[in-house]
Amino acid sequence: MYEFAVTPAVTNIRRRGVEITEVTPESLGAEIELEPGDRIIKVNGRVVRDYLDFRFQTAGETELVLDVRKKSGEDWQVELERDEGEDFGFTFEQIVPRQCANECLFCFCKGNPDDARKSLFVRDEDVRLSFLYGNYTTLTSITEDEMQRIIEQRLSPQYVSVHATDVKVRAYLLGVDNKRADISTQMNRLLDAGIEVHAQVVLCPGINDEEVLHKTINDLASEFPRITSVAIVPLGLTRYNTDARLTAVTPEFCSRVIDQVSKIQETLRARIGTNFALLGDEIYLRAGKPIPSRSHYGDYPQIEDGVGMVRSFKEQFAATTRRMQRRGMQLEHQRGTIVTGTLFAPVLRPLIERLNAKFGSALSVAGIDNTYFGGDVSVAGLLTGQDLLSARERISGDFVLIPKQMLKSDEDVMLDGMKLDQVQKGIRLPVHPVGLADLPRVLSSRIALN
Ligand code: SF4
Repeated sequence: MYEFAVTPAVTNIRRRGVEITEVTPESLGAEIELEPGDRIIKVNGRVVRDYLDFRFQTAGETELVLDVRKKSGEDWQVELERDEGEDFGFTFEQIVPRQCANECLFCFCKGNPDDARKSLFVRDEDVRLSFLYGNYTTLTSITEDEMQRIIEQRLSPQYVSVHATDVKVRAYLLGVDNKRADISTQMNRLLDAGIEVHAQVVLCPGINDEEVLHKTINDLASEFPRITSVAIVPLGLTRYNTDARLTAVTPEFCSRVIDQVSKIQETLRARIGTNFALLGDEIYLRAGKPIPSRSHYGDYPQIEDGVGMVRSFKEQFAATTRRMQRRGMQLEHQRGTIVTGTLFAPVLRPLIERLNAKFGSALSVAGIDNTYFGGDVSVAGLLTGQDLLSARERISGDFVLIPKQMLKSDEDVMLDGMKLDQVQKGIRLPVHPVGLADLPRVLSSRIALN
């Protein structure tokens, strides 16, 4: 049975205008006496809904009239002149994501434990966040207003979760009816307007693989270069998503997908000059196959989706290591443990071993199991405080480096609600959150990590 979404597209209730959260001292914003808590309602008579609207409506304008609702409740109209491109010095409230109206079989929200951080349950489907951060949307409930906004404000590129170009298969995966699943009209409008699209497929064994995948890649590639790339990433299951319609991804499945997609890539390279369809790193790692070379990924169009991240990291690591050698650096003072997921640990370990041999450091890599989400979750960013504590005996040295994605972006809290200082007390060592890309720099820095 198909599950049909019954909820309409929900736009969160919002107040008029956009709120200023910070004003840089001595900036233009401070000069016109605007303060945190004030809301900009209109720019030159045009309504402002969020900071993207503010950016768009002020761009290129030197004479401006701002309608402002002051924090005090007063309404101001501010007339000002500014130099071309002069910054206002404002920081604005974050965009509140608009929610999706789908019931995807594999939705990550279904795979969360009940007590997981609230933000993990946000089902965002927001073309603004797609443009700003590369979040994927399905376009199944895009409104005319949103469509016009993308086109008028040039919110390009857009990242679209296609999953399958076979409408019935797409409808099944998304839990919507065929009419909603068919986004050919929406896609054509975006492409005809010159909006760049990157597509994504979440590959679910037995549903959108094999011939369906073949058709999806070829259909999307027929729109190249208007559609620039398609990222193919594997279904991830936690122990909480037990939907019987889903089959877990296995190493054998990953090997078959690599074989299938490599052949398609070869044909596409000959036809359009690019691989176009790029497999997520996880597929290679789980299959135990080598990660493709740098040239395979072009300009890494979907790296944030875990496509080419490992290759890029290895390149960056090698470059930093060479720089360190040229400078004759030594790292004898660095004795600690780098914690990561079980998927990435085999990639990182040999690099760190070579680093130790060259620079005299004593660093070890601990790939730890994710007991909080369970299932086949093995990525570093989803590890929790509990997972770290249960791996205590595998931690050695004077400090611990953890992936910064383990923490909330604005607070030192882990996905299971545990605070960073609780973990430090439990482990009895300093714990430093580090971005993967920053790892070589942090290790080569002279900062005392202990
Ligand atoms: S996977 Fe995305 S589009 Fe599908 S239900 Fe979840 S949030 Fe919505």
